[in-house]
Amino acid sequence: MRNKRIIDEADDVRRAVEMVRLGARMQMLEAETRLSREKLLRIYKEVRGVSPPKGMLPFSTDWFMTWQPNVHSSLFMGFYRYFEQGLGLGGLDAIIKAYHLYLDQIEAGHIEPVLSLTRAWTLVRFFDADLLQLAECRECGGRYVAHAYDPVRGYVCGLCNMPSRAGKTRRAAVKKVRETDLVEV
Ligand SMILES: [Zn+2]
Repeated sequence: MRNKRIIDEADDVRRAVEMVRLGARMQMLEAETRLSREKLLRIYKEVRGVSPPKGMLPFSTDWFMTWQPNVHSSLFMGFYRYFEQGLGLGGLDAIIKAYHLYLDQIEAGHIEPVLSLTRAWTLVRFFDADLLQLAECRECGGRYVAHAYDPVRGYVCGLCNMPSRAGKTRRAAVKKVRETDLVEV
């Protein structure tokens, strides 16, 4: 496999640069390109000016269930599903496009992004592995990330049933999720 086509390699380099710019960790770069670890490290350092952080990625669905991450993850998944099911895009391309839309929405609302690209990528992998599903809220009709084995009948989302500490960001977040519904097909 050493003699791969130079065009394929150039395509991988372009994807790796875009992923690093969006904050991807090494694990994602290694999984999504066929470039060597050495090459990926060089790309990372050239783009970011520092070495990539070490350590494993968290392998748990729990983070996506906590209040604020759940709202952000659900927003991202709405975009991802739009690209995947509505436009037939798959895998990394759909993830990157959905992540750009997520960042645009978050920045337009003057909210700090909570979902990193690597988290978003992990989220899609959890969906692919049937560990997570989208549940429709019976109050607002929005679709939210939920555990695959949780019953979805009568599901109420974190925005409609909100912990009191989350009050400050509620209005902005509700607006964001409603906007996601608009692009769903
Ligand atoms: Zn709701």
